[in-house]
Amino acid sequence: MEIRGKITLKKGKSFSIERFHPWIFSGAIQSADGKIQDGDWVEVVQHNGKRLGTGHFQKGSITVRMLTFGEGLAPDFYTRKLTSALALRTAALLPADNTNCFRWVNAEGDGLPGLIIDWYDGVAVVQAHSHGMHADREKITGAIQDVWGENLKSVYYKSQSTLAGKSKEEQADGYLFGLGGVPHVVYENNHKFYVDWEEGQKTGFFLDQRENRRLLGQYAKGKKVLNTFCYTGGFSIYAISEGAETVHSVDSSEKAITLARKNIELNMYDESNHKCYTVDTFDFIKDKQEQYDLIVLDPPAFAKKRDSRHQAVKGYQRLNAEAMRIIRPGGIIFTFSCSQVVDKQLFYDTVVSASIQAQRQVKVLHHLSQPADHPVSMFHPEGEYLKGLVLYVE
Ligand code: SAH
Repeated sequence: MEIRGKITLKKGKSFSIERFHPWIFSGAIQSADGKIQDGDWVEVVQHNGKRLGTGHFQKGSITVRMLTFGEGLAPDFYTRKLTSALALRTAALLPADNTNCFRWVNAEGDGLPGLIIDWYDGVAVVQAHSHGMHADREKITGAIQDVWGENLKSVYYKSQSTLAGKSKEEQADGYLFGLGGVPHVVYENNHKFYVDWEEGQKTGFFLDQRENRRLLGQYAKGKKVLNTFCYTGGFSIYAISEGAETVHSVDSSEKAITLARKNIELNMYDESNHKCYTVDTFDFIKDKQEQYDLIVLDPPAFAKKRDSRHQAVKGYQRLNAEAMRIIRPGGIIFTFSCSQVVDKQLFYDTVVSASIQAQRQVKVLHHLSQPADHPVSMFHPEGEYLKGLVLYVE
């Protein structure tokens, strides 16, 4: 890792960097010296030459993702950052006796824009969202080995779906260290889950719903539960274990449903009160007359970019209004959005519109978010992406 060039900012454009916001937009750049290529480390200086820090360069709207502030690049940069990210998890009581999987690196939230690492009991699944992190993948693997030593079984690189251009072409998902066996069993709040990082979505499991699943479990006893967008059955497993009367799990992915079924078996729950449906949630819910006591709505991000936000809002509104139609009086809805561009207030307002459309009296019982292993930097509020509401519908 070496610094390949220098980026000079325009006068008056260094303010956000001095306040540790990690993104430099193309419009803030005065000049770029050296033969800088996508993925290179660059030094960033103010218009008067004062050093601001270093970061990864990538042509585009965000041109530099800052990785150090006020200082240069140390050879053990990744080892230090991964060590402090682990210290945060330890402070947040992860791993725990009953939970051996967690998000170890949460991009900007850990001062490492472009990098996600999820930890599955000895297996690190690394996901690069920038050319710079892709270029540094071997260094990152070395740092993971430094931190975990003998406790590391393997490092799996899973970036085919998150990279673009040249990096995507040269990159094949695969093991950078060791070899893993999938599916692999992890514990979350004492529940067992198969995780398949090779074939599964994202890094294999949605670790960000850990605490929300636990809360759902507390409401599930004796209830008729509908878990839509269930993936591998996260919320369903908690509901069954806490004594739900019936659980219906819905997902459009056959692979996800297959693993959801296996997860029921793995936890040795009687399958008679659980049914899986491989179908689009909107189709499933549309003509339903059956009433549920508890409904989970955890769709994928309907908007990935700002320009699709309007469509996304319409999607959330329709979904929530349909759920309000089929919930019995006194029922509860857990509703989520993981679209970064739909912020907390917009999501709330969208659920208000759904309530108006459904003509039901709706009360908010809880505001939910992402857990401590998905930290948000005070200087990068955009990192708060998961929003949830628990609704009581009269
Ligand atoms: N709640 C899950 C995570 C949900 S991720 C958990 O706790 O693990 C979103 C899921 O929605 C994915 O499994 C994806 O396959 C599914 N999905 C996407 N579009 C869908 C649709 N229109 N209908 C049903 N499922 C859908």
